[in-house]
Amino acid sequence: MVKVACCWDDGVVNDIRLIGLLRKYNAKATFNLNPGLMPEHTGTPHWVTPDEKCWSYQGFANGKVGLKEMKEIYGDFQVASHGWTHMGGSVDPQAFIKDALDARHYLEDVFQRECPGYAWPCGDYTPVAARLLKDAGFLYGRTTQYTDRVGFTDAPLHLNSSCHHADRGFYDKFRAAKAANGIFYFWGHSYELLDCEGLWNQIEQKLAFLSADPETQWIDVIDIVR
Ligand SMILES: [Zn+2]
Repeated sequence: MVKVACCWDDGVVNDIRLIGLLRKYNAKATFNLNPGLMPEHTGTPHWVTPDEKCWSYQGFANGKVGLKEMKEIYGDFQVASHGWTHMGGSVDPQAFIKDALDARHYLEDVFQRECPGYAWPCGDYTPVAARLLKDAGFLYGRTTQYTDRVGFTDAPLHLNSSCHHADRGFYDKFRAAKAANGIFYFWGHSYELLDCEGLWNQIEQKLAFLSADPETQWIDVIDIVR
């Protein structure tokens, strides 16, 4: 058996299409959100024009999911704090923990369930910030570092994954986790898929491959540390 988990950061509009694929293949996922950066209503993805100054990934401005739509969009999946404003662990400790907790409390209000997960913005982990998260009752903090032994940790606030979804070793790492009866855990940002059909086909192939394996069991990220 191999347990498989995935998570996706930043609450962008491409999450909606990704969720369609996750549903199609009965896959579980956790979405790491920054409510302080989400607009009231869901944005419109577009390729930026020369006179636009908005943030983009390779020229593609995906836009964010709206606060008014977030419950309907993510309601069947897990959500976790990614900071109210995407603030990493290297800032002032009190500002950091307020940012992490503000997002958690907002999500718990909207989704009416506990959201004790955290994903370090930009992988910006510090031991001081980890201590604050632990004291505040967070159960894990996902880093952007990788391990071939997911879950074998006594430091869940430094929770490493197997790889990024676009890692060229994706399938090899899955097979290694399966051979070890372990956990395969990948992460990413759905905006990285742009509006490029080749990239969307690739992630669909991966989800289909994982779900077709009779020895695969999808789990939530929180299950790794529980
Ligand atoms: Zn992020």
